[in-house]
Amino acid sequence: MSIVDIIEKKRDKKKLSKAEINYFITNYVNGEIKDYQASALLMAICINGMDEEETTILTEAMLNSGEIFDLSKIDGIKVDKHSTGGVGDKVTLIVGPLLASLGLKVAKMSGKGLGHTGGTIDKLEGIPGFQTNLNKKQFINQVNDISLSIIGQTGNLVPADKMLYALRDVTATVNSIPLIASSIMSKKLASGAEVIILDVKVGKGAFMKTVKEAEELAKLMVKIGTNLGRKVIAILTSMNYPLGYSIGNNLEVIEALASLKGKGASDLNKISIELSARLAHLAGKFKTLDEARLNVEANLINNKALRSFLAMVEAQGGDSKKLDIEGLKLAEKQYQIKAKAKGVVSALDSLKIGQAAMLLGAGRKTKEDEIDYTAGIILHKKPGDRVKVEDILCNLYTNKELTKEIKDMVESSFVIANEHKEEPLIIKIIES
Ligand code: URA
Repeated sequence: MSIVDIIEKKRDKKKLSKAEINYFITNYVNGEIKDYQASALLMAICINGMDEEETTILTEAMLNSGEIFDLSKIDGIKVDKHSTGGVGDKVTLIVGPLLASLGLKVAKMSGKGLGHTGGTIDKLEGIPGFQTNLNKKQFINQVNDISLSIIGQTGNLVPADKMLYALRDVTATVNSIPLIASSIMSKKLASGAEVIILDVKVGKGAFMKTVKEAEELAKLMVKIGTNLGRKVIAILTSMNYPLGYSIGNNLEVIEALASLKGKGASDLNKISIELSARLAHLAGKFKTLDEARLNVEANLINNKALRSFLAMVEAQGGDSKKLDIEGLKLAEKQYQIKAKAKGVVSALDSLKIGQAAMLLGAGRKTKEDEIDYTAGIILHKKPGDRVKVEDILCNLYTNKELTKEIKDMVESSFVIANEHKEEPLIIKIIES
């Protein structure tokens, strides 16, 4: 077998065999296959695609390229949730404790934010003392004790994806549904959960801009997970607007806590409840989805989910008494952005406002950048809200100078018009 033959086959739109896909991954990871050859194959896949069987084989080969996290020492049903990334997306901070409060086991590895999208690990690391680098034993013991732990990626999980993703980034080959699906699913499956819900974001601030592409990706990921022996469901949710009212790490922790106290923003609560109920139902915890929803909603009101969150903070070294504006701190400089016209907010560009939050210090342009946990944006108006001239649209928090570029970006992300057309937040459910 040779890599040149494999590239040629995909170039000519033919289906690759299991042996060929395994050969590619094994020999790319061990350095026998060079970056220029892998790039050519990735571009051929990007242009000519892969079917479900090839993508499942690719995912399994990537999964087997490194360590697979063994959660067998955790008693109970291990569940996981993944978001394809959004702006103001603090849903994991709500869904994790909710699921734990229902008796499911949440042993979750999360990522850091990049570009306009945030990451759960950054949000948690803003909490004074919170440790995201537990060792495996601590992680497993904590989940056995309190049903919940969220840590950064540990161990040598899916080295093939690390190498391929870096290459895709510089060869214009990120944008391929089979490559995205195998990349996401290999990492999800390597982290060991049995039942998984995928929150596939659609719209301006999301990877997938249209429902059609998002649905194709979601269906493929559900099929791959099911083919590889997991229970998987996906939910397509809108990312045309930011979720909730806060963007930026400390601000988002404060907002997630409000949700856990039953006082959250309605869009944030709706997605958190739906994801938790669907996952708990799929995991077999409740006979019907309605029963699952009722129990999830109850645990947001009766403080059970809040207690799970606080227990995790304490168990991971954080101070659960410092989870308010004073303890978590906000940036020193604050600026108000005001409406220049009267009407109704008809759109709020999540990509632009997410990029503005990044420039204020809340996010990273490149993986190496430092972030400022105290920076971010609080929205005062969202789509559907009426505004008058000079009404505050949002508050910006930063330790940097507010440049004209950032101010213009924030201002232009709000569209004020005569009317607003309501869009669905939960677009579709994809089941196996
Ligand atoms: N996120 C991933 O983890 N991989 C991709 O390929 C795209 C988004």
